[in-house]
Amino acid sequence: MAGVEAAWAAIRLGAVVTIYEMKPHKFSPAHRLDGLGELVCSNSLKSLSFENGSGLLKEEMRLFGSLIVEAAEATSVPAGQALAVDRERFSEYITQKLIAAGVKIIREEITELPEGRPLIIATGPLTSDGFARTLGELLGTDGLFFYDAIAPVIYKESIDFDLAFMGSRYDKGGADYVNCPMNKIEYEAFVEALLGAEKTRPKGFEKIPYFEGCMPVEAIAERGPDTLAFGPLRPVGFTDPRTGKRPHALVQLRCENKEETIYNLVGFQTSLTRPEQKRVFSLIPGLKAATYARYGSIHRNSYLNSPLLLSDSLELKENSGIFLAGQITGVEGYCESAAMGIVAGISAFMSSAGLEFTAPPPSTMTGALIRYITASESGEGKGGFQPMNSNFGIIEGGGGGKKRRAPVVEKAIMDAISWRTKILQLSGVSGSVR
Ligand SMILES: Cc1cc2nc3c(=O)[nH]c(=O)nc-3n(C[C@H](O)[C@H](O)[C@H](O)COP(=O)(O)OP(=O)(O)OC[C@H]3O[C@@H](n4cnc5c(N)ncnc54)[C@H](O)[C@@H]3O)c2cc1C
Repeated sequence: MAGVEAAWAAIRLGAVVTIYEMKPHKFSPAHRLDGLGELVCSNSLKSLSFENGSGLLKEEMRLFGSLIVEAAEATSVPAGQALAVDRERFSEYITQKLIAAGVKIIREEITELPEGRPLIIATGPLTSDGFARTLGELLGTDGLFFYDAIAPVIYKESIDFDLAFMGSRYDKGGADYVNCPMNKIEYEAFVEALLGAEKTRPKGFEKIPYFEGCMPVEAIAERGPDTLAFGPLRPVGFTDPRTGKRPHALVQLRCENKEETIYNLVGFQTSLTRPEQKRVFSLIPGLKAATYARYGSIHRNSYLNSPLLLSDSLELKENSGIFLAGQITGVEGYCESAAMGIVAGISAFMSSAGLEFTAPPPSTMTGALIRYITASESGEGKGGFQPMNSNFGIIEGGGGGKKRRAPVVEKAIMDAISWRTKILQLSGVSGSVR
């Protein structure tokens, strides 16, 4: 997804582009097709609605000349408000367009860093083992992660503060956490629902050796009825303001972004299906009507410690000329990965042409994603840096609830157009390149 967008963006600005792709000689455990631009799971690129972060991101990508969006529109299948595609025609469309545009495609697994610069690495969440080792050596022990055990992220505006309260354990530090206290009956009902909930089936290649620190919440619950109350849900150091007593258990949510609009459920990394996360976690007092900026999941995912390593031009801070794109930068999702490809393609082209690159502003969804993955505070939480998808919690000015999204969307689109115009002017490319 990201590699093809990077190639398309760069060649349209005038670059000479070579793609190295290991298929069909070698396939990751999820890839099946020979062609480029393969959707490995769902055939949907998610919502087209501007009420949805993904809808806005796709519109920005369209403005930036996205090949993925063009191909999706050309090969779409009926899917209501979503943009779904015939995956084989989609891949074929992309492959043919790149060949026709003059992109050289070499079918070969890369295991060592190629010498040419600029170089864009877009090997995805299932980067081959050989190259992952090389990357690990380049980036150091804290540089590359291999698994994602992520907890759900919830919009603050959807939390019921008649039941939840801000505070911290023993009142130490600021009142930074959202706390959801539970009595014994609520706790027992929650644990019972958690144990009976449906989980996503682990794929053969996703049999993950859990580390104690990122054990799924349902796996902790399986160890005994009180394990959660003595673990991530321990209530010590808290008084429930409604009762004046220590609660039986307590769920904490920690802030995810500078704007304090989205909060993650601490210790709730989970393999529950999405509908089950919604159902079971709604039993937590204060979260009955919670809306999700991101659901929890546990899966194989190679991704960079981007807040440490990556600049907002998607270039490695310590290795000039090497750019990263796609899911490996710490974004999550087809469109998010592709959008990072567009930016990396433009950025790499501009660096090789000696032009100054400026990232899209954080008032756009594309720029908000870049800011999220490269901002140093994104990696400061206890769980470290975790990937992010497009949502209104990360975009500048976007935390005000669904009803106040229209001006945010309008500004994002205006700013995306201005950014595009600036890039085209700087690159000396005529307006015929959309
Ligand atoms: C199993 C699975 C299911 C997913 N399902 C969804 C979903 O339903 N919806 C969604 O939005 N997101 C999904 N994702 C997340 C993510 O959006 C996709 O993985 C997306 O394809 C990432 O795009 P990318 O460009 O970063 O990587 P990819 O699209 O995976 O592209 C990477 C390419 O690099 C090639 N490659 C890897 N290593 C090498 C090497 N050493 N040398 C040469 N070539 C190499 C691969 O063959 C591949 O073609 C899923 C991820 C996984 C792992």
